Amino acid sequence: MGDRMMAEPQDIALELSGVSKTYQISQGLFAASKPLRALDNISLQLRRGEVLGLVGESGCGKSTLAKVLLGLEKPTRGDVRIFDQPFGSHDRKWIARRIQPIFQDPYSSLNPRKSVREIITLPLRVHSVGKTSGWNDGVSRMLDLVGLPQRLIDANPSQMSGGQRQRVAIARALIMRPEVVICDEPTSALDVSVQSQILNLLMDLRDELGLTYLFISHNLAVVEHIASRVAVMYLGRVVEQGPAARIFETPKHPYAVALLDSILTPDPSMDVPDVDLDGNFPNPVDPPSGCTFHPRCASATSLCSRLRPEPVQQAPGFVTCHLHDPNQQKDMA
Ligand code: SF4
Repeated sequence: MGDRMMAEPQDIALELSGVSKTYQISQGLFAASKPLRALDNISLQLRRGEVLGLVGESGCGKSTLAKVLLGLEKPTRGDVRIFDQPFGSHDRKWIARRIQPIFQDPYSSLNPRKSVREIITLPLRVHSVGKTSGWNDGVSRMLDLVGLPQRLIDANPSQMSGGQRQRVAIARALIMRPEVVICDEPTSALDVSVQSQILNLLMDLRDELGLTYLFISHNLAVVEHIASRVAVMYLGRVVEQGPAARIFETPKHPYAVALLDSILTPDPSMDVPDVDLDGNFPNPVDPPSGCTFHPRCASATSLCSRLRPEPVQQAPGFVTCHLHDPNQQKDMA
């Protein structure tokens, strides 16, 4: 379930409808492989100009979702549309001119042997965009845009700080003039003192260039700072989605409540604490029955281990929990 009726098709940059992605996981030489459902029937919209925060613990499927939206993975089931056109009807260059990624770790995502100039122009080279004679001016403009001094144009990443490297990664994404940027944990590899600088830069760039962001993070405190809407993922499903202000004030899904509790630490400069829940994150190859969150949920009843909850509209947004499903109230009492 999405909230399509609230947005016209021309206002939607990306749309997923019933998207699932299953991998076959080897269990050893003599055992049959098992399916791992990384994405489980995801329906989600990214509207033009918004920042949609996608949050959840490691292994919940956030990065698989990013790969699907970048065309790096094909869904096993379901549809992905980009600017109201089927994703699969376009080539890599068309997609790359509209969607670009910024990844978590600028230490590993930038080639340490290449200069800043070569790194930033890489997408132009790969997709044969523009004339090479104009590339230097383009790089120079990008350096200004991301707040890097021009003297770094021939430096290589090993001579730069983490924050400077992430600025190079942002410049590399923006040189294609995309409309949508998939930010996959863009600040989590950086020192706390640098994180807010990069977040502020991303927000300034959004305002200046009219960008749309899907902002993926395990850190709700970061998402609160930047997102206008939030989708919470657990084991391949979106369990709650809605306006950021509403989710941060009154989360409804028990998992979203636990995630929010986890950011209320005495020292906000500390790294993200573990989510305070009973039990460990389940094995995605062998997920719990019914609601996959039930072994960790303080509100679970016997219904939860038997019946998989479906999304229930909570305008605007939805929550995937029997507690909020009027049809299940009797069995949840
Ligand atoms: Fe908890 Fe049941 Fe809701 Fe799942 S459906 S989150 S187990 S109350």
